Amino acid sequence: MKQSGRRIAVVGAGISGLAHAWMAARGGARVTVFERSDKARGASVRNFGMVWPVGQPAGLHPVALRSRELWLELAAATGIHAQPVGSVHVVDRDDEVAVLEEFARIGPELGYGCEMWLPAQVEARCRGVRRGAAKAGLYSPREVNVDPREAIAVLPAFLRERHAVVFRWRTPVVEAGEGYLRTSAGERLAFDEILICSGHDLESLFPEEFAAAPLKPCKLQMLRTVPQPKGWELGPMLASGLTLRHYANFEVCPSLAAVKERIARESPELDRHGIHVMASQDRGGGIVLGDSHEYGDDIEIFDKAEIDDLMLRELRRLFDFPDWTIAERWHGIYAKNPEGAEFRQQPLPGVHLLTGLGGSGMTMSFGLAERWFSGSDAAL
Ligand SMILES: Cc1cc2nc3c(=O)[nH]c(=O)nc-3n(C[C@H](O)[C@H](O)[C@H](O)COP(=O)(O)OP(=O)(O)OC[C@H]3O[C@@H](n4cnc5c(N)ncnc54)[C@H](O)[C@@H]3O)c2cc1C
Repeated sequence: MKQSGRRIAVVGAGISGLAHAWMAARGGARVTVFERSDKARGASVRNFGMVWPVGQPAGLHPVALRSRELWLELAAATGIHAQPVGSVHVVDRDDEVAVLEEFARIGPELGYGCEMWLPAQVEARCRGVRRGAAKAGLYSPREVNVDPREAIAVLPAFLRERHAVVFRWRTPVVEAGEGYLRTSAGERLAFDEILICSGHDLESLFPEEFAAAPLKPCKLQMLRTVPQPKGWELGPMLASGLTLRHYANFEVCPSLAAVKERIARESPELDRHGIHVMASQDRGGGIVLGDSHEYGDDIEIFDKAEIDDLMLRELRRLFDFPDWTIAERWHGIYAKNPEGAEFRQQPLPGVHLLTGLGGSGMTMSFGLAERWFSGSDAAL
């Protein structure tokens, strides 16, 4: 899309809206971001902050790597916490070891830089892994740990100062049409393009288009420990064998079927709540823990203590942190497009619906937005 000099409105100041605002402004557009709240309060401030290229399917892995570069560029420009600590999938069952070995064989040809670690290597490099628990680990050096609350707060100031992006906080957009939008205050403002990055709000703008789309909302429960004592560091971000059934990269491994079948038989409660476990460390030293997945009509308003207990049971089996005191519990909701990496539709000339990033918005938003503006994402 030609951007130079064009007036572009972005609705929503989550990571998707900010990524599109950044890429539009880099291309020379005059950008205004409209956010209904006083600051972004959606999925983009409720996540792990895992920029996770290793989890993306092979076709999207280069886009994730490009996003990673852009995160590091942003960190250099703003000083935000973005640590390229890498990731380790830590497993304790033979069928899970088989999946890691298969992926370590296939992965490098597909562009994934990863290697198998023996239990002694896992224990030496990952202080948070329970001694004697790991049968193997898959190390990938490319994952980056960002602090979502900090990043989403700092990025608007960077866009304003560096790229003259205008932010309109507390300004719900109530209508978008060809060449204009209307705010809740009754203003009718003219724009050449309107990008609606409204996350899981599929009801306020273009509800009929969203209702006909394949999008599904998904709710995740999360926990955070108190800051760990004496500057204790997690090192690489951690995932467990349960995670193998969650990220699309492992789907290339025929051995994955046995893991899925065994978990469904042994621990149906984990499948029922879509539980797999991961851990990252925030800037203040707390460990961010999760997560579960409830979809569509199964989403309950209230969080379930049972889900937190199951996550902690699985986390404690493999991981051991100096202080497990839970300081915060919350949930987040994202919109997922089961048919692709994101959902893009143009309901009217110049009006674009952009959402559906699922559990990979922090990983993919910058790369996908850059590809879209460059017009090279037709293949996605
Ligand atoms: C618990 C959890 C953990 C996750 N972990 C990770 C992870 O580690 N790595 C990763 O890559 N991804 C992760 N994700 C996924 C990622 O957070 C999402 O894909 C991403 O944040 C979606 O961004 P968004 O901008 O589309 O939506 P949101 O962040 O929800 O932003 C949408 C914004 O639009 C605004 N808005 C909506 N309608 C209007 C309107 N009419 N007018 C004005 N403003 C409006 C809302 O107020 C909101 O601020 C996780 C998600 C969750 C929930």
